Amino acid sequence: MADYDPDNIFAKILREEIPCMRVYEDDETLAFMDIMPRVDGHLLVIPKTPCRNVLDATPEQLTAVIKTVQKMARAVKSAFDADGVTIQQFNEAAGGQEVFHLHFHVLPRHEGVSMRPPG
Ligand code: IMP
Repeated sequence: MADYDPDNIFAKILREEIPCMRVYEDDETLAFMDIMPRVDGHLLVIPKTPCRNVLDATPEQLTAVIKTVQKMARAVKSAFDADGVTIQQFNEAAGGQEVFHLHFHVLPRHEGVSMRPPG
C-alpha cells in the first residue's frame, strides 16, 4: 500500500487551504458536504489525523470516525426526512477510492429514489 500523501484534497481541507461546507467537527473528526452529491444531503466524514483508508487506520481513528458517522447518519435522516441512510467507504483505487484520506460517505435515502451516478 502506498504511503499517506499529505497533499491529498482532504488534507488540504483540514489545513483550510481549500474551502468546504463544514457541517460538524470535534477534536478528532470533521464532516462536510460532498462536492458532487449523489443524493441531496450527501456528506463525508474524515479523521483529522493522517490516514489513507481503513487498511491503514488505527482502532482509535476508526472508533472516532464511526461515532461521527452514526451522529451524521441520524442527523441527515432527520434533516432530510429520509427513509434510510446508505453508508459507503472505499479502499485503494481497485476498491473504488479516489481521494486517499480515510472517509465515509453518508447518504440519506428515500424509498424509490436512486443515487445519481458519480461525477
Ligand atoms: P471516493 O474516494 O471514491 O470515496 O470519492 C471521493 C469523494 O470525494 C467523491 O464523492 C467526491 O465528490 C468527493 N470530493 C472530492 N473533492 C472534494 C472536495 O473538495 N470537497 C468535497 N468533496 C469532495
